[in-house]
Amino acid sequence: MIYISDYELKPRKKDGRLHVVNRGTEPVCPICGRILQYRDERSRVYKREVGERNVLYVRRLYCRYCKTYHVELPDFLEKNRQYTV
Ligand SMILES: [Zn+2]
Repeated sequence: MIYISDYELKPRKKDGRLHVVNRGTEPVCPICGRILQYRDERSRVYKREVGERNVLYVRRLYCRYCKTYHVELPDFLEKNRQYTV
C-alpha cells in the first residue's frame, strides 16, 4: 500500500462514484523505487464517522520489475485505518 497526501476526491465520469485523483508526483514502488504503472481501480469501503459507510475507488498500481501490485490510498485512510475494510 502507498499513501499519498496530494490528491482530490472526484466523481468518476463513467458512473459518478468518488475516486482518488493523485495530484502529486507519480507514486514509486516501495520495494524498488521505480515508477508504478496504473492497472485498474478497486472499490474501498471506509468510515469517517460512526455509522457512516462510504465507497471510494482507489488506483491499483503495478510494478513490472517486482511484479507486485500496490494500492494507492489517500492519507486520511491511514489515520482512520481501523475503520477501513
Ligand atoms: Zn518494484
